Amino acid sequence: MATATIDLDALRRNLKLLRSRLSPGCEFLAAVKANAYGHGAVPVARELEREGVAWFGVATAEEALELREDGIAGRILLLAPAGERVDELLSSDVDLVVAGRYSLERVRSIASRGTPRVHLKIDTGMGRLGLPPGEALELARELDRDERVRLESVWTHLATADEPDHPLTGQQLEAFESFRETLSREGIEVPLLHTCNSAGLLALPKAHYGLVRAGIALYGYPPPGTSPDPAESSVDTQSGRAAGLGFTPVMTLSAPVVFAKRVPAGATISYGATWRAPRDTTIATVRLGYADGYPRLLSNRAWALLGGRRAPVVGMVCMDQLMLDAGDLDVVPGDDAVLFGGSGPGADELASLVGTISYEMVSSVAARVERVYTG
Ligand SMILES: *Cc1c(COP(=O)(O)O)cnc(C)c1O
Repeated sequence: MATATIDLDALRRNLKLLRSRLSPGCEFLAAVKANAYGHGAVPVARELEREGVAWFGVATAEEALELREDGIAGRILLLAPAGERVDELLSSDVDLVVAGRYSLERVRSIASRGTPRVHLKIDTGMGRLGLPPGEALELARELDRDERVRLESVWTHLATADEPDHPLTGQQLEAFESFRETLSREGIEVPLLHTCNSAGLLALPKAHYGLVRAGIALYGYPPPGTSPDPAESSVDTQSGRAAGLGFTPVMTLSAPVVFAKRVPAGATISYGATWRAPRDTTIATVRLGYADGYPRLLSNRAWALLGGRRAPVVGMVCMDQLMLDAGDLDVVPGDDAVLFGGSGPGADELASLVGTISYEMVSSVAARVERVYTG
């Protein structure tokens, strides 16, 4: 059975490493959206809660409610504007986001039944959620005046925190600072401010404010733009953007060999006959395919660890299976191949082969892949 083994020791080590970089007094929000980037939201959040993490970030109402139903007691911030199921979110004590007029009205619609805690999102340059500071100011005033809601935080999201030289980061932080000053001039008190994701946590200590929201580094991958090899990295180690940084990938994706056979030189493998054996070799068929979240684009490009050796992925990746060139390795059904993580390639290494990022590799691992927890 294809398995994603989740190493909770590694998760704790990554958390410790990230906390050691936090500015004094800054709190930590663990992004556990998208099933904790494929790692399993509830087990991951439980483990982090045991380690004292007080905030969890999710992307949908369902994700927020699932965490609550499964006993997560900490603050849960729904990182997107409140739209559906706001009643249930309020009764489950979920922190809500206001990004514009619509979400403000949604929050007000439930305000007679409790005191929603709201987080005003402003757009300083990401261009995804929230109004620009000029327009967001009116929302801030209304939230401040409304006794039935609690304005908990003002926050923004950085588009280029992982690119040390990009001018947008500075512009966004300036816009955020100046919004903060405007609020304080108007006497609008905001308990919490936050801007940083993993990349910002590592690179922008001045922008930590009261909370950082980290995901990918927690799961063991340096944010894109930092390279594991300092020599190849565009990263400025002096500003604290050290490459690699000692994170350990939390997920190891493995799957069993279900069939193996010798093929003669010239034999072709898989759909389209895109790979031809250059010599007599052993082909191992592995029970994992693109429906398990292993990208078809990795056909003829990636490798897996099999019997302690690198075995190239040969031929097109199929829906449920892929083939490895095992060379002269003695391989039998039941042997496990490591597709990424552990001693196999990094999810970031495979991601870069197909023009994506580690986030997409880990969060795409399908529901039918069993999650197994160790540590
Ligand atoms: C997912 C997410 C994060 C975490 O980003 P990483 O790059 O994984 O650290 C932070 N903030 C918001 C709004 C997010 O959606």
